[in-house]
Amino acid sequence: MPRKAIDLTNERFGRLVVKKNVGKARSGNLIWHCHCDCGNTKEVAAGNLRSGVIQSCGCITQEKRARKLLEKVESEIMRENQDFRATP
Ligand SMILES: [Zn+2]
Repeated sequence: MPRKAIDLTNERFGRLVVKKNVGKARSGNLIWHCHCDCGNTKEVAAGNLRSGVIQSCGCITQEKRARKLLEKVESEIMRENQDFRATP
């Protein structure tokens, strides 16, 4: 007997709120249609939601990448300013 699938409707995982079940993956995981806080929607396998692997439509990853890039640019600017000050 397969384990009974857990109903995740209206559960929140990070930025995602589960809206409805839209099918089943080959692995047996249910696929859930989720709404992200940013306004996007995403279909995610139950296993990925419950393990915390996926917590947004992808916008968290994009924001992290953008922040890293910004930090890199800022540190480069700081370094350039220091060089500028060091040269008479
Ligand atoms: Zn999002």
